[in-house]
Amino acid sequence: MKAASAGAPALPFLDLRQANARYADELKRAAARVIDSGRYVLGEELEAFEDEFARYCGVAHAIGVGNGLDALALILRAYRDLGALAEGDEVIVPANTFIATFLAISQNGLVPVPVEPDPADFNLDPRRVEAAIGARTRAIVAVHLYGQLAPMPALAALARRHGLLLIEDAAQAHGAACDGRKAGAFGDAAAFSFFPTKNLGALGDGGAATTADAALAQRIRALRNYGSQVKYRHLYQGVNSRLDELQAALLRVKLAHLDEEIALRREVAARYRAGIVHRRIELPAAVREQSHVWHLFVLRCARRDALADHLAGQGIQTQVHYPVPAHRQPAYPQLHALRLTVTERLHEQILSLPLWPTMDAASVERVIAACRSFAEAP
Ligand SMILES: *Cc1c(COP(=O)(O)O)cnc(C)c1O
Repeated sequence: MKAASAGAPALPFLDLRQANARYADELKRAAARVIDSGRYVLGEELEAFEDEFARYCGVAHAIGVGNGLDALALILRAYRDLGALAEGDEVIVPANTFIATFLAISQNGLVPVPVEPDPADFNLDPRRVEAAIGARTRAIVAVHLYGQLAPMPALAALARRHGLLLIEDAAQAHGAACDGRKAGAFGDAAAFSFFPTKNLGALGDGGAATTADAALAQRIRALRNYGSQVKYRHLYQGVNSRLDELQAALLRVKLAHLDEEIALRREVAARYRAGIVHRRIELPAAVREQSHVWHLFVLRCARRDALADHLAGQGIQTQVHYPVPAHRQPAYPQLHALRLTVTERLHEQILSLPLWPTMDAASVERVIAACRSFAEAP
């Protein structure tokens, strides 16, 4: 991509320093509390955050883990341990997701079966999901991509009818809601990431699993801590993946402001959707207002690379989420034979614009003007 033209100040894709600066005092107080406590792993802050996050999502149990990938992987591992999944079982997954969704499945000896999305909302299409259900299908992992809820009522009905587990990858959708229910409370279990760039971001790695199932929650809780419930007594061959006290304390601060941040994200997205008027640019649709928390603002353009260059020429940084689908990654040679034309075309056309809660109005208008000045013809 071209360098910024002289004079135009660079507009970053995401200014995390600025986004967190408004909470600096609160975050420093929370960090000081942990430093002074002398307890840094599996303590009161984690317990309090788990309670607060479970309440926020409207679920009985939240289990803090090391990151979003581990949250999803430990859910699947717990289901394997409990006999609901077995080696070689197939798990339906959107073809157009971050690699972590696939990794959690294949890590557990399960087989990811990628399904094409509905290009209108980038999320799983229940009709295509149903067509992909076979004799070995045992679960669906629905990703709320870019912050918009997947069609959960339809997927839940499908899962019920076919006796499948329904698991949410909610890494991008903290707080997204439909009919009064929030992400994390639709499936049998859900995985969240608190990576710093996510809508609820820690100042390091973090993740959580949520579920209404007490047995599953108990299993994940043990698995994240060496398979142990009582110190030095190991029931299972677990892992070490815990949300530490410092991140838990910082996340408690951020969680208290999450709804306010979602409202700010919606304002930026609304400005983009009203202002970016261009024959060659297709804007993202919010199927329902409450169901989208705008983790990313992803548009489509047949001349995506030219548009990205045009914006870069004006100092505006963009990203592509994601440039290469999982079935085309070197990490998954067994999927290379798949032809997923909807997904492949989407990956050539999508472009993510800068968006964060405290992005100032002048920057938003600058992005809008830059998009509108993109040449209509090559
Ligand atoms: C970020 C993300 C993950 C993984 O979360 P980490 O905390 O980075 O491990 C999984 N799935 C999706 C859809 C994500 O966006």
